[in-house]
Amino acid sequence: MAKHDTTLFWFRRDLRITDNAGLYHALKNESKVLPIFIFDTEILNQLDDKHDKRVDFIHQSLAKLKGELEQLGSSLLVLHGNPVEIYSILQPKAVYCNHDYEPYAIDRDFAIKESLAKQDIPFHSYKDQVIFEKLEVVKDDGSPYTVFTPYSKKWKAKLNNFYLRSYLTEKYFSKLIKIAPLPFPTLEEIGFEKTNAVFPERKIQLKIIESYHDTRNYPAVNGTSRLSVHLRFGTMSIRKLASIASQKNETWLNELIWRDFYHMILWHFPQVVTQPFKPAYGFVEWRNNESEFQAWCEGKTGYPIVDAGMRELNETGYMHNRVRMIVAS
Ligand SMILES: Cc1cc2nc3c(=O)[nH]c(=O)nc-3n(C[C@H](O)[C@H](O)[C@H](O)COP(=O)(O)OP(=O)(O)OC[C@H]3O[C@@H](n4cnc5c(N)ncnc54)[C@H](O)[C@@H]3O)c2cc1C
Repeated sequence: MAKHDTTLFWFRRDLRITDNAGLYHALKNESKVLPIFIFDTEILNQLDDKHDKRVDFIHQSLAKLKGELEQLGSSLLVLHGNPVEIYSILQPKAVYCNHDYEPYAIDRDFAIKESLAKQDIPFHSYKDQVIFEKLEVVKDDGSPYTVFTPYSKKWKAKLNNFYLRSYLTEKYFSKLIKIAPLPFPTLEEIGFEKTNAVFPERKIQLKIIESYHDTRNYPAVNGTSRLSVHLRFGTMSIRKLASIASQKNETWLNELIWRDFYHMILWHFPQVVTQPFKPAYGFVEWRNNESEFQAWCEGKTGYPIVDAGMRELNETGYMHNRVRMIVAS
């Protein structure tokens, strides 16, 4: 099959068209860019509960993204399948995306990059999800930090405006391919159902950020940003949030640094996906009592704060940080 003259920008955990590093580079470097999203069956097939709030959130976010692209005269190609197989059929000029630090995604991207390279199709990936990644904040001897406080000190010392600068994708929107609206699969068509989740708004509430250090530890107070879902799927830019944090509230900035810290840990120590970070904890002898576990899951332990947290999670998909610490300990 002949190679197309169209470049693909592959959305993954970066579901926004503004301040998106990979999209910026695709639009700047190429002349005709088609945005694409793949509902990855390697991930989705492992989800037994078809009322999955994450899939629902992604689907809603894609609908919004597609609408924004269509306002610009372009659209979003939404596919459902195994990305390695999909890319073995597509013949774009190039593929652009942003780094994903999960072990499965690293292997998948490597396989796609190798297979595209055999056809002389470049695969470009960029840092977008975090402020500092991989080896950018390490100990003086070059090894990764495993303790947060010294990591956060080095992180803050390294931070400057360069790392917080926004990628002005809008300067190059004219490079988006002009195309009629493309089909958009329903949740049912990809094997899922709508959930009852009400997702937090994609909005920074400055009043909450300003008093975050005072209010964040009170579960009954609406005192945290509720932006975790937007950070997870990239519907908001970490650069924008870190920039606000660095001006408004150092305690909140520390939370965003924790997020970078764990991304860094995941990249250096991918075994944490299935094993304890400290190997000794692998030898803990758990009670493994199925009915106790079930009571915990349903919020029926008899410990009011634990039950409140688990019920909040079951009802809304969210639990306050302080309560997470209690239910998990
Ligand atoms: C047992 C346990 C499990 C947790 N599981 C997750 C999880 O699966 N995913 C997740 O994003 N956070 C997790 N956290 C961290 C934290 O509880 C949530 O990020 C936070 O409650 C989300 O609410 P918020 O958006 O209002 O956060 P805010 O308090 O407003 O913080 C801003 C952002 O900083 C990041 N952040 C905050 N705390 C942490 C932290 N300790 N580690 C890493 N990043 C952090 C999140 O992206 C968060 O949205 C967990 C904490 C505990 C104790």
